[in-house]
Amino acid sequence: MAYKTVNPYNNEVVKEYPNATEDQLQEALATGHDLYKTMRKQPISERAKILHNVAAKLREHSDELAKACTVDMGKLYRESKGEVELVAIIADWFADHGEDLLKSEKIDTIATGEAGIRHQSTGVIMMVEPWNFPYYQIMRVFAPNFMVGNPMILKHAANTPTSAQMFADVVAEAGAPKGSLTNLFLSYDQVTEAIEDPRVQGVALTGSERGGTAVAGAAGKNLKKNTMELGGMDPFVVLGDADMDAVNDIAWRARLYNCGQVCTSSKRFIVMDNVYDEFLDSLKKHFAAVKPGDPMDPATTLAPMNTEKAKNKLQSQLDDAIAHGAKVAYGNEHIDLPGQFFMPTILTDIDKDNPAFKTELFGPIASVYKVHSEQEAIDIANDSPYGLGGIVFSGDADHGAEVAGQIETGMVFVNNFMATLPELPFGGVKLSGYGREMSHIGQMAFVNEQLIVKTDKPDLGNLAGGLVATDPE
Ligand code: NAP
Repeated sequence: MAYKTVNPYNNEVVKEYPNATEDQLQEALATGHDLYKTMRKQPISERAKILHNVAAKLREHSDELAKACTVDMGKLYRESKGEVELVAIIADWFADHGEDLLKSEKIDTIATGEAGIRHQSTGVIMMVEPWNFPYYQIMRVFAPNFMVGNPMILKHAANTPTSAQMFADVVAEAGAPKGSLTNLFLSYDQVTEAIEDPRVQGVALTGSERGGTAVAGAAGKNLKKNTMELGGMDPFVVLGDADMDAVNDIAWRARLYNCGQVCTSSKRFIVMDNVYDEFLDSLKKHFAAVKPGDPMDPATTLAPMNTEKAKNKLQSQLDDAIAHGAKVAYGNEHIDLPGQFFMPTILTDIDKDNPAFKTELFGPIASVYKVHSEQEAIDIANDSPYGLGGIVFSGDADHGAEVAGQIETGMVFVNNFMATLPELPFGGVKLSGYGREMSHIGQMAFVNEQLIVKTDKPDLGNLAGGLVATDPE
Protein backbone atom coordinates (compact mmCIF):
# COMPACT_ATOMS: atom_id res chain seq x y z
CA MET A 1 0.00 0.00 0.00
CA ALA A 2 1.38 3.42 -0.97
CA TYR A 3 -0.11 5.36 1.97
CA LYS A 4 1.67 4.53 5.24
CA THR A 5 2.60 6.14 8.50
CA VAL A 6 6.18 5.07 9.21
CA ASN A 7 7.63 6.84 12.24
CA PRO A 8 10.95 8.28 11.01
CA TYR A 9 12.30 8.38 14.57
CA ASN A 10 12.25 4.58 15.01
CA ASN A 11 11.15 3.25 11.55
CA GLU A 12 8.07 1.57 13.02
CA VAL A 13 5.26 1.00 10.48
CA VAL A 14 2.40 2.50 12.49
CA LYS A 15 -0.50 2.22 10.06
CA GLU A 16 -1.17 1.45 6.40
CA TYR A 17 -4.11 2.77 4.42
CA PRO A 18 -5.70 1.16 1.35
CA ASN A 19 -5.82 3.18 -1.86
CA ALA A 20 -9.09 4.87 -2.75
CA THR A 21 -11.43 2.90 -4.98
CA GLU A 22 -12.97 4.19 -8.19
CA ASP A 23 -16.35 4.29 -6.40
CA GLN A 24 -14.95 6.46 -3.62
CA LEU A 25 -13.57 8.93 -6.15
CA GLN A 26 -16.86 9.06 -8.07
CA GLU A 27 -18.80 9.53 -4.85
CA ALA A 28 -16.51 12.38 -3.75
CA LEU A 29 -16.95 14.12 -7.10
CA ALA A 30 -20.74 13.75 -6.99
CA THR A 31 -21.03 14.84 -3.35
CA GLY A 32 -18.69 17.77 -3.95
CA HIS A 33 -20.62 18.92 -7.01
CA ASP A 34 -23.98 18.71 -5.20
CA LEU A 35 -22.53 20.66 -2.31
CA TYR A 36 -21.20 23.33 -4.69
CA LYS A 37 -24.75 23.83 -5.99
CA THR A 38 -26.14 24.01 -2.44
CA MET A 39 -23.44 26.36 -1.16
CA ARG A 40 -24.07 28.83 -4.01
CA LYS A 41 -27.41 29.61 -2.37
CA GLN A 42 -26.14 29.70 1.21
CA PRO A 43 -25.01 32.94 2.91
CA ILE A 44 -21.23 33.07 3.45
CA SER A 45 -21.80 33.96 7.10
CA GLU A 46 -23.03 30.40 7.75
CA ARG A 47 -19.72 29.01 6.53
CA ALA A 48 -17.80 31.60 8.57
CA LYS A 49 -19.38 30.16 11.72
CA ILE A 50 -18.35 26.63 10.72
CA LEU A 51 -14.81 27.77 9.91
CA HIS A 52 -14.49 29.38 13.35
CA ASN A 53 -15.64 26.08 14.73
CA VAL A 54 -12.94 24.28 12.72
CA ALA A 55 -10.41 26.57 14.45
CA ALA A 56 -11.90 25.74 17.85
CA LYS A 57 -11.83 21.99 17.14
CA LEU A 58 -8.22 22.20 15.96
CA ARG A 59 -7.29 23.82 19.27
CA GLU A 60 -9.35 21.28 21.22
CA HIS A 61 -7.56 18.37 19.48
CA SER A 62 -4.19 20.12 19.33
CA ASP A 63 -2.27 17.48 21.31
CA GLU A 64 -3.50 14.51 19.25
CA LEU A 65 -3.05 16.37 15.97
CA ALA A 66 0.48 17.44 16.89
CA LYS A 67 1.42 13.91 17.91
CA ALA A 68 0.05 12.45 14.66
CA CYS A 69 2.06 14.97 12.67
CA THR A 70 5.26 14.16 14.59
CA VAL A 71 4.76 10.41 14.13
CA ASP A 72 3.91 10.82 10.42
CA MET A 73 6.89 12.93 9.39
CA GLY A 74 9.20 13.43 12.38
CA LYS A 75 8.68 17.13 13.16
CA LEU A 76 9.61 18.21 16.70
CA TYR A 77 6.45 18.00 18.81
CA ARG A 78 6.63 21.67 19.84
CA GLU A 79 6.87 22.65 16.17
CA SER A 80 3.85 20.41 15.43
CA LYS A 81 1.93 22.19 18.21
CA GLY A 82 2.93 25.53 16.68
CA GLU A 83 1.69 24.34 13.29
CA VAL A 84 -1.73 23.39 14.70
CA GLU A 85 -2.08 26.81 16.33
CA LEU A 86 -1.04 28.57 13.09
CA VAL A 87 -3.63 26.57 11.18
CA ALA A 88 -6.33 27.61 13.68
CA ILE A 89 -5.24 31.26 13.27
CA ILE A 90 -5.60 30.94 9.49
CA ALA A 91 -9.09 29.45 9.83
CA ASP A 92 -10.16 32.27 12.17
CA TRP A 93 -8.74 34.93 9.85
CA PHE A 94 -10.60 33.70 6.77
CA ALA A 95 -13.74 33.24 8.85
CA ASP A 96 -13.43 36.87 10.00
CA HIS A 97 -12.40 38.42 6.67
CA GLY A 98 -13.65 36.12 3.90
CA GLU A 99 -17.12 37.63 3.62
CA ASP A 100 -15.75 41.15 3.35
CA LEU A 101 -13.07 40.14 0.82
CA LEU A 102 -15.72 38.43 -1.31
CA LYS A 103 -18.28 41.21 -1.28
CA SER A 104 -19.46 42.58 -4.62
CA GLU A 105 -17.51 45.44 -6.17
CA LYS A 106 -19.08 48.32 -8.07
CA ILE A 107 -17.44 49.46 -11.32
CA ASP A 108 -17.57 53.01 -12.65
CA THR A 109 -18.48 52.67 -16.33
CA ILE A 110 -19.92 54.64 -19.22
CA ALA A 111 -22.19 51.69 -19.99
CA THR A 112 -25.85 52.27 -19.24
CA GLY A 113 -26.88 51.03 -15.83
CA GLU A 114 -24.98 49.67 -12.88
CA ALA A 115 -21.97 47.42 -13.32
CA GLY A 116 -20.48 45.25 -10.64
CA ILE A 117 -18.44 42.13 -9.97
CA ARG A 118 -19.74 39.31 -7.83
CA HIS A 119 -17.21 36.85 -6.45
CA GLN A 120 -18.77 33.46 -7.04
CA SER A 121 -17.64 29.93 -6.36
CA THR A 122 -16.59 27.82 -9.34
CA GLY A 123 -16.88 24.15 -8.35
CA VAL A 124 -14.86 21.34 -6.85
CA ILE A 125 -11.14 21.98 -6.27
CA MET A 126 -8.59 19.14 -6.45
CA MET A 127 -5.79 19.83 -3.97
CA VAL A 128 -2.50 17.93 -3.83
CA GLU A 129 -0.38 18.61 -0.76
CA PRO A 130 3.07 17.70 0.63
CA TRP A 131 4.10 16.19 3.95
CA ASN A 132 6.33 18.95 5.34
CA PHE A 133 3.52 20.92 7.03
CA PRO A 134 0.72 18.36 6.89
CA TYR A 135 -1.99 20.66 8.32
CA TYR A 136 -0.82 24.11 7.26
CA GLN A 137 -0.60 23.13 3.58
CA ILE A 138 -4.21 21.92 3.61
CA MET A 139 -5.51 24.97 5.45
CA ARG A 140 -3.95 27.42 2.98
CA VAL A 141 -6.33 26.05 0.37
CA PHE A 142 -9.20 24.91 2.56
CA ALA A 143 -10.04 28.15 4.42
CA PRO A 144 -10.48 30.51 1.43
CA ASN A 145 -12.22 27.91 -0.73
CA PHE A 146 -14.60 26.85 2.02
CA MET A 147 -15.52 30.51 2.51
CA VAL A 148 -16.30 31.07 -1.17
CA GLY A 149 -18.13 27.74 -1.41
CA ASN A 150 -15.79 25.51 -3.40
CA PRO A 151 -15.83 21.92 -2.07
CA MET A 152 -12.45 20.17 -2.09
CA ILE A 153 -10.94 16.76 -2.68
CA LEU A 154 -7.59 16.25 -0.95
CA LYS A 155 -4.75 14.02 -2.08
CA HIS A 156 -2.08 14.29 0.60
CA ALA A 157 1.46 12.89 0.56
CA ALA A 158 1.85 9.12 0.81
CA ASN A 159 3.78 9.45 4.11
CA THR A 160 1.31 11.67 6.01
CA PRO A 161 -2.00 9.80 5.67
CA THR A 162 -2.84 9.88 9.38
CA SER A 163 -2.51 13.67 9.59
CA ALA A 164 -4.56 14.06 6.40
CA GLN A 165 -7.40 11.94 7.73
CA MET A 166 -7.34 13.65 11.13
CA PHE A 167 -7.62 17.07 9.49
CA ALA A 168 -10.62 15.92 7.43
CA ASP A 169 -12.20 14.41 10.56
CA VAL A 170 -11.81 17.71 12.45
CA VAL A 171 -13.50 19.57 9.59
CA ALA A 172 -16.43 17.12 9.70
CA GLU A 173 -16.63 17.29 13.49
CA ALA A 174 -16.80 21.09 13.28
CA GLY A 175 -20.03 20.79 11.29
CA ALA A 176 -18.83 21.28 7.72
CA PRO A 177 -21.22 19.56 5.34
CA LYS A 178 -20.13 16.26 3.76
CA GLY A 179 -18.05 16.95 0.68
CA SER A 180 -16.52 20.18 2.01
CA LEU A 181 -13.17 18.37 2.27
CA THR A 182 -12.93 14.75 1.17
CA ASN A 183 -9.58 13.14 1.92
CA LEU A 184 -8.86 10.27 -0.48
CA PHE A 185 -5.80 8.06 -0.77
CA LEU A 186 -5.58 8.57 -4.53
CA SER A 187 -3.07 7.20 -7.01
CA TYR A 188 -1.45 9.64 -9.45
CA ASP A 189 -3.74 8.31 -12.21
CA GLN A 190 -6.79 9.01 -10.05
CA VAL A 191 -5.59 12.58 -9.47
CA THR A 192 -5.45 13.00 -13.25
CA GLU A 193 -8.88 11.40 -13.58
CA ALA A 194 -10.30 13.90 -11.05
CA ILE A 195 -8.68 16.82 -12.90
CA GLU A 196 -10.23 15.61 -16.18
CA ASP A 197 -13.70 15.54 -14.64
CA PRO A 198 -15.85 18.57 -15.61
CA ARG A 199 -17.07 18.96 -12.04
CA VAL A 200 -13.51 19.84 -10.95
CA GLN A 201 -12.87 23.51 -11.72
CA GLY A 202 -9.55 24.21 -10.04
CA VAL A 203 -6.32 22.49 -9.06
CA ALA A 204 -3.94 23.55 -6.26
CA LEU A 205 -0.61 21.83 -5.68
CA THR A 206 2.15 22.44 -3.20
CA GLY A 207 5.21 20.32 -3.76
CA SER A 208 8.24 19.86 -5.96
CA GLU A 209 8.80 20.44 -9.65
CA ARG A 210 8.23 16.71 -10.13
CA GLY A 211 4.68 16.82 -8.74
CA GLY A 212 4.07 20.31 -10.08
CA THR A 213 4.97 19.49 -13.66
CA ALA A 214 2.74 16.40 -13.70
CA VAL A 215 -0.27 18.00 -12.03
CA ALA A 216 -0.01 21.38 -13.80
CA GLY A 217 0.37 19.41 -17.05
CA ALA A 218 -2.90 17.58 -16.44
CA ALA A 219 -4.59 20.84 -15.40
CA GLY A 220 -3.29 22.66 -18.48
CA LYS A 221 -4.36 19.86 -20.81
CA ASN A 222 -7.87 20.08 -19.37
CA LEU A 223 -7.88 23.91 -19.19
CA LYS A 224 -8.35 23.95 -15.43
CA LYS A 225 -7.18 26.98 -13.50
CA ASN A 226 -4.34 26.04 -11.17
CA THR A 227 -1.94 27.37 -8.56
CA MET A 228 1.53 25.90 -8.06
CA GLU A 229 3.49 26.40 -4.82
CA LEU A 230 6.82 24.75 -5.54
CA GLY A 231 10.38 24.57 -4.27
CA GLY A 232 12.83 27.25 -3.31
CA MET A 233 16.52 28.05 -2.79
CA ASP A 234 15.92 31.12 -0.71
CA PRO A 235 18.84 33.52 -0.26
CA PHE A 236 19.75 34.95 3.16
CA VAL A 237 21.77 38.06 2.33
CA VAL A 238 23.99 39.54 5.03
CA LEU A 239 25.14 43.07 4.16
CA GLY A 240 28.34 44.49 5.63
CA ASP A 241 26.58 46.72 8.18
CA ALA A 242 24.14 44.08 9.46
CA ASP A 243 23.51 43.59 13.18
CA MET A 244 25.55 40.40 13.52
CA ASP A 245 24.02 39.39 16.86
CA ALA A 246 20.61 39.30 15.19
CA VAL A 247 22.00 37.57 12.07
CA ASN A 248 23.75 34.89 14.13
CA ASP A 249 20.67 34.29 16.24
CA ILE A 250 18.39 33.84 13.23
CA ALA A 251 20.55 32.23 10.52
CA TRP A 252 20.77 28.73 12.02
CA ARG A 253 17.06 28.73 12.91
CA ALA A 254 16.18 29.80 9.36
CA ARG A 255 18.03 26.73 8.09
CA LEU A 256 17.25 24.07 10.71
CA TYR A 257 13.59 24.76 11.54
CA ASN A 258 11.50 21.67 10.55
CA CYS A 259 14.85 19.89 10.01
CA GLY A 260 15.53 22.18 7.06
CA GLN A 261 12.56 20.77 5.15
CA VAL A 262 10.79 24.05 4.42
CA CYS A 263 10.24 25.54 0.99
CA THR A 264 11.25 28.93 2.42
CA SER A 265 14.18 27.70 4.52
CA SER A 266 17.20 29.91 3.94
CA LYS A 267 19.22 27.56 1.78
CA ARG A 268 21.89 29.95 0.51
CA PHE A 269 23.69 32.34 2.86
CA ILE A 270 25.27 35.16 0.85
CA VAL A 271 27.57 37.07 3.15
CA MET A 272 29.72 40.21 2.71
CA ASP A 273 33.43 39.58 3.10
CA ASN A 274 33.89 41.84 6.18
CA VAL A 275 31.47 39.73 8.28
CA TYR A 276 31.97 36.34 6.56
CA ASP A 277 34.34 34.73 9.08
CA GLU A 278 32.25 35.78 12.05
CA PHE A 279 29.13 34.47 10.31
CA LEU A 280 30.65 31.09 9.44
CA ASP A 281 32.04 30.58 12.96
CA SER A 282 28.69 31.32 14.51
CA LEU A 283 26.78 29.06 12.11
CA LYS A 284 29.17 26.19 12.89
CA LYS A 285 28.76 26.76 16.61
CA HIS A 286 24.95 26.72 16.38
CA PHE A 287 24.87 23.69 14.07
CA ALA A 288 27.17 21.83 16.48
CA ALA A 289 24.89 22.62 19.43
CA VAL A 290 21.76 20.83 18.16
CA LYS A 291 20.66 17.69 19.96
CA PRO A 292 19.23 14.87 17.85
CA GLY A 293 16.72 12.59 19.56
CA ASP A 294 13.09 11.71 20.07
CA PRO A 295 11.02 14.49 18.48
CA MET A 296 8.44 14.06 21.26
CA ASP A 297 11.10 14.98 23.85
CA PRO A 298 11.21 18.73 24.61
CA ALA A 299 15.01 18.51 25.00
CA THR A 300 15.48 17.43 21.36
CA THR A 301 16.43 20.20 18.95
CA LEU A 302 17.18 18.18 15.78
CA ALA A 303 14.35 16.08 14.38
CA PRO A 304 14.78 13.16 11.99
CA MET A 305 14.10 13.78 8.31
CA ASN A 306 10.71 12.65 7.08
CA THR A 307 11.66 9.40 5.33
CA GLU A 308 14.64 7.18 4.61
CA LYS A 309 14.23 8.00 0.92
CA ALA A 310 14.50 11.76 1.59
CA LYS A 311 17.59 11.25 3.74
CA ASN A 312 19.29 9.08 1.10
CA LYS A 313 18.48 11.59 -1.62
CA LEU A 314 19.99 14.45 0.42
CA GLN A 315 23.14 12.40 1.14
CA SER A 316 23.62 11.65 -2.55
CA GLN A 317 23.15 15.35 -3.41
CA LEU A 318 25.73 16.23 -0.77
CA ASP A 319 28.19 13.62 -2.09
CA ASP A 320 27.70 15.01 -5.58
CA ALA A 321 28.29 18.60 -4.41
CA ILE A 322 31.56 17.52 -2.73
CA ALA A 323 32.63 15.55 -5.81
CA HIS A 324 32.19 18.79 -7.78
CA GLY A 325 34.52 20.75 -5.49
CA ALA A 326 32.35 22.03 -2.62
CA LYS A 327 34.11 22.09 0.78
CA VAL A 328 32.52 20.82 3.98
CA ALA A 329 32.98 23.54 6.60
CA TYR A 330 31.01 21.51 9.14
CA GLY A 331 29.07 18.24 9.37
CA ASN A 332 28.58 15.35 6.92
CA GLU A 333 29.03 12.75 9.64
CA HIS A 334 26.86 9.82 10.58
CA ILE A 335 24.46 10.23 13.50
CA ASP A 336 24.36 6.98 15.41
CA LEU A 337 20.61 6.65 15.90
CA PRO A 338 18.20 4.29 14.14
CA GLY A 339 15.94 7.09 12.83
CA GLN A 340 16.38 9.18 9.70
CA PHE A 341 18.77 11.70 11.24
CA PHE A 342 20.98 13.89 9.08
CA MET A 343 23.80 15.87 10.62
CA PRO A 344 23.52 19.61 9.94
CA THR A 345 26.16 20.41 7.34
CA ILE A 346 27.72 23.59 5.98
CA LEU A 347 29.08 23.80 2.43
CA THR A 348 31.34 26.52 1.03
CA ASP A 349 33.20 26.96 -2.27
CA ILE A 350 30.22 26.01 -4.42
CA ASP A 351 31.11 27.02 -7.98
CA LYS A 352 28.50 27.88 -10.55
CA ASP A 353 29.05 24.59 -12.37
CA ASN A 354 28.43 22.58 -9.20
CA PRO A 355 24.97 20.93 -9.33
CA ALA A 356 24.41 22.21 -5.76
CA PHE A 357 24.50 25.78 -7.09
CA LYS A 358 21.12 25.33 -8.75
CA THR A 359 19.52 22.41 -6.88
CA GLU A 360 17.25 22.64 -3.87
CA LEU A 361 18.79 20.73 -0.92
CA PHE A 362 15.69 19.85 1.11
CA GLY A 363 17.20 19.15 4.51
CA PRO A 364 19.71 20.56 7.01
CA ILE A 365 22.48 21.67 4.62
CA ALA A 366 23.51 25.34 4.45
CA SER A 367 25.37 26.66 1.40
CA VAL A 368 27.49 29.70 2.24
CA TYR A 369 28.85 32.18 -0.32
CA LYS A 370 31.34 35.00 0.33
CA VAL A 371 30.71 38.18 -1.68
CA HIS A 372 32.63 41.44 -2.07
CA SER A 373 29.88 43.86 -3.02
CA GLU A 374 26.17 44.36 -2.63
CA GLN A 375 25.69 43.92 -6.38
CA GLU A 376 27.50 40.58 -6.27
CA ALA A 377 25.17 39.51 -3.44
CA ILE A 378 22.10 40.45 -5.49
CA ASP A 379 23.48 38.72 -8.59
CA ILE A 380 24.09 35.46 -6.72
CA ALA A 381 20.68 35.69 -5.05
CA ASN A 382 19.08 35.98 -8.48
CA ASP A 383 21.25 33.33 -10.17
CA SER A 384 18.80 30.58 -9.27
CA PRO A 385 16.07 28.75 -11.13
CA TYR A 386 13.80 29.36 -8.13
CA GLY A 387 12.17 32.53 -6.82
CA LEU A 388 10.24 31.82 -3.65
CA GLY A 389 11.39 33.89 -0.65
CA GLY A 390 14.41 35.44 0.95
CA ILE A 391 15.85 37.40 3.84
CA VAL A 392 18.06 40.50 3.78
CA PHE A 393 19.92 41.75 6.85
CA SER A 394 21.06 45.37 6.74
CA GLY A 395 21.96 47.98 9.36
CA ASP A 396 19.44 50.23 7.62
CA ALA A 397 16.02 48.61 7.14
CA ASP A 398 15.09 51.03 4.32
CA HIS A 399 18.26 50.17 2.46
CA GLY A 400 17.55 46.49 3.16
CA ALA A 401 14.14 46.94 1.54
CA GLU A 402 15.81 48.53 -1.51
CA VAL A 403 18.01 45.46 -1.85
CA ALA A 404 14.99 43.19 -1.22
CA GLY A 405 13.23 44.87 -4.16
CA GLN A 406 16.06 43.78 -6.45
CA ILE A 407 15.74 40.13 -5.47
CA GLU A 408 13.62 38.15 -7.93
CA THR A 409 11.42 36.19 -5.52
CA GLY A 410 7.81 36.34 -4.36
CA MET A 411 8.54 37.29 -0.73
CA VAL A 412 11.46 38.96 1.09
CA PHE A 413 11.77 39.78 4.79
CA VAL A 414 14.21 42.44 5.97
CA ASN A 415 16.02 41.95 9.30
CA ASN A 416 13.79 39.10 10.42
CA PHE A 417 12.89 35.41 10.16
CA MET A 418 10.37 34.71 7.38
CA ALA A 419 6.92 34.54 8.92
CA THR A 420 3.82 33.04 7.41
CA LEU A 421 0.53 34.61 8.47
CA PRO A 422 -2.94 34.50 6.94
CA GLU A 423 -2.92 38.16 5.88
CA LEU A 424 0.41 37.84 4.02
CA PRO A 425 0.36 36.47 0.46
CA PHE A 426 2.48 33.34 0.02
CA GLY A 427 4.02 32.22 -3.28
CA GLY A 428 6.81 32.63 -5.76
CA VAL A 429 8.02 33.20 -9.29
CA LYS A 430 10.23 31.20 -11.72
CA LEU A 431 10.33 27.46 -10.87
CA SER A 432 8.86 28.22 -7.45
CA GLY A 433 5.49 28.33 -9.17
CA TYR A 434 2.67 30.79 -9.71
CA GLY A 435 -0.39 32.08 -7.93
CA ARG A 436 -0.57 33.08 -4.31
CA GLU A 437 -2.10 31.37 -1.29
CA MET A 438 -3.38 33.12 1.87
CA SER A 439 -4.36 36.83 2.16
CA HIS A 440 -6.83 38.69 -0.03
CA ILE A 441 -5.01 37.34 -3.11
CA GLY A 442 -5.35 33.71 -2.03
CA GLN A 443 -9.02 34.27 -1.28
CA MET A 444 -9.55 34.98 -4.99
CA ALA A 445 -7.56 32.03 -6.40
CA PHE A 446 -10.58 29.99 -7.51
CA VAL A 447 -13.29 32.61 -7.77
CA ASN A 448 -15.48 33.49 -10.73
CA GLU A 449 -15.31 37.28 -10.93
CA GLN A 450 -18.71 37.50 -12.50
CA LEU A 451 -19.64 40.78 -14.20
CA ILE A 452 -23.28 41.77 -13.89
CA VAL A 453 -24.52 44.94 -15.60
CA LYS A 454 -28.11 45.89 -14.90
CA THR A 455 -30.36 48.56 -16.34
CA ASP A 456 -34.10 49.18 -16.51
CA LYS A 457 -34.06 49.94 -20.23
CA PRO A 458 -31.46 49.23 -22.95
CA ASP A 459 -29.65 52.20 -24.50
CA LEU A 460 -27.99 51.06 -27.73
CA GLY A 461 -26.33 54.42 -28.35
CA ASN A 462 -24.31 54.08 -25.22
CA LEU A 463 -22.54 50.83 -26.09
CA ALA A 464 -18.90 51.65 -26.72
CA GLY A 465 -17.13 50.26 -29.75
CA GLY A 466 -20.26 49.67 -31.80
CA LEU A 467 -20.33 45.99 -30.93
CA VAL A 468 -24.00 45.76 -31.78
CA ALA A 469 -25.87 45.33 -35.03
CA THR A 470 -26.80 48.75 -36.45
CA ASP A 471 -29.99 49.73 -38.22
CA PRO A 472 -29.74 49.97 -42.04
CA GLU A 473 -29.11 53.55 -43.33
P1 NAP B 1 6.27 16.17 -4.33
O1 NAP B 1 7.01 14.93 -4.54
O2 NAP B 1 5.99 17.03 -5.51
O3 NAP B 1 4.91 15.77 -3.59
C1 NAP B 1 3.94 16.72 -3.26
C2 NAP B 1 2.57 16.11 -3.47
O4 NAP B 1 2.40 15.85 -4.86
C3 NAP B 1 2.39 14.77 -2.77
O5 NAP B 1 1.06 14.64 -2.35
C4 NAP B 1 2.71 13.78 -3.89
O6 NAP B 1 2.15 12.51 -3.67
C5 NAP B 1 2.06 14.48 -5.04
N1 NAP B 1 2.52 14.06 -6.36
C6 NAP B 1 3.80 13.91 -6.78
N2 NAP B 1 3.81 13.53 -8.08
C7 NAP B 1 2.51 13.45 -8.48
C8 NAP B 1 1.87 13.09 -9.70
N3 NAP B 1 2.57 12.77 -10.80
N4 NAP B 1 0.52 13.10 -9.75
C9 NAP B 1 -0.20 13.43 -8.66
N5 NAP B 1 0.34 13.77 -7.46
C10 NAP B 1 1.69 13.78 -7.38
O7 NAP B 1 6.98 17.12 -3.28
P2 NAP B 1 7.90 16.69 -2.06
O8 NAP B 1 9.27 16.58 -2.60
O9 NAP B 1 7.37 15.56 -1.30
O10 NAP B 1 7.73 18.01 -1.18
C11 NAP B 1 8.73 18.89 -0.94
C12 NAP B 1 8.77 19.98 -2.01
O11 NAP B 1 7.65 20.84 -1.79
C13 NAP B 1 9.99 20.84 -1.89
O12 NAP B 1 10.47 21.13 -3.17
C14 NAP B 1 9.46 22.10 -1.23
O13 NAP B 1 10.25 23.24 -1.46
C15 NAP B 1 8.09 22.18 -1.80
N6 NAP B 1 7.20 23.02 -0.99
C16 NAP B 1 6.74 24.19 -1.49
C17 NAP B 1 5.94 25.01 -0.72
C18 NAP B 1 5.42 26.32 -1.23
O14 NAP B 1 4.48 26.86 -0.65
N7 NAP B 1 6.00 26.89 -2.29
C19 NAP B 1 5.60 24.60 0.57
C20 NAP B 1 6.08 23.39 1.05
C21 NAP B 1 6.88 22.59 0.25
P3 NAP B 1 3.04 11.28 -3.13
O15 NAP B 1 3.45 11.63 -1.75
O16 NAP B 1 2.08 10.14 -3.19
O17 NAP B 1 4.20 11.14 -4.06
